[in-house]
Amino acid sequence: MKTGEVAVFVLLLLPVLAGCAPPATPVPTAPVRRATPTISAPATATVSPSPSPRPSPTPSPPVTVQAEVRALRGNLSNQIARLEQNAPRANSNRFVVPSDAEMAAFSAIVRGVERGEVARAAHLAERNGYELVRYTDRGDGQAESWLLRERKPFRRGWGMYLFRIGSRSQVVVEAPHPLFDAGTPAVAMAAYRALQARALLVAGAQRHANRDGSADAAHHRRTIFQAVHRASMGTGEDVVVLQIHGFSAAHHAAYPQVVLGSDHGRAATPVNELAAALTGRGIRVGVCGRGLWEDLCGTKNVQAASVQNGVFIHLELDESIRHDPRGLLAVLAQVIVP
Ligand SMILES: [Zn+2]
Repeated sequence: MKTGEVAVFVLLLLPVLAGCAPPATPVPTAPVRRATPTISAPATATVSPSPSPRPSPTPSPPVTVQAEVRALRGNLSNQIARLEQNAPRANSNRFVVPSDAEMAAFSAIVRGVERGEVARAAHLAERNGYELVRYTDRGDGQAESWLLRERKPFRRGWGMYLFRIGSRSQVVVEAPHPLFDAGTPAVAMAAYRALQARALLVAGAQRHANRDGSADAAHHRRTIFQAVHRASMGTGEDVVVLQIHGFSAAHHAAYPQVVLGSDHGRAATPVNELAAALTGRGIRVGVCGRGLWEDLCGTKNVQAASVQNGVFIHLELDESIRHDPRGLLAVLAQVIVP
């Protein structure tokens, strides 16, 4: 029997032995085999040279088990629902204002993910009530991302973050106001998918969760959302941040369906292109400036203020667009990722 055949035989046989062998006969355990997914020397070394198919319990060669990051497969919309179900509600005072050390820890997690130091990042997440998992999105052609999410039960309300594995995109999509801007995490997720964006950032608390306003991720700097935002900017000049908000058409009579805001610097060109393309699709759009739509322009937005290089676009969507964002997504795909 060739070495490879022995190895295959052992791999097939072991589950049977594990189920029926007496307890006194230890066999290599399943986690060891998972840590060495390829048919390798340590696996063959467990096979006795005797004709008996039963593997000898000794000698047991040392097997280095790499620190593993859990893999999870599902539809990303379920992760959005998980966040929305567990996020601190208005006036609950359940959003925890992070310390300097906690802000730094999440920056380090993002940098670790970007550098491929995933086991270290996962360990750091673990120490902060979070988990880092390798997530396969069934709703997006099995696309793979690192998913950073709070462990249940939620005790912090710090948000959920995805980083697309192997991405070359410069697009970062953000939803800082879950629950309050109803449906915006789902729109942001759809944009993350449609643009094959580099990162998706969803804040983890209703903006009025704390009575002092500290849970409002778009207007307070001391949030994990802001720490992850800053760490996600990279060093290049090409980053494009799309931040998704929602407003009530009933409370904004005579406003368009979409209001686009920016710093009017670098973002002016893409914003004007977006506006033209939206208009071309029959979507009513307004561009901030000259005092128009001012309450929806994100003028005090802290993420906008911390985009040093690149472009920040603030998108306010009424209910009709949040309910059916297909036209918006098609325009974003056309203009942002030409
Ligand atoms: Zn908002």
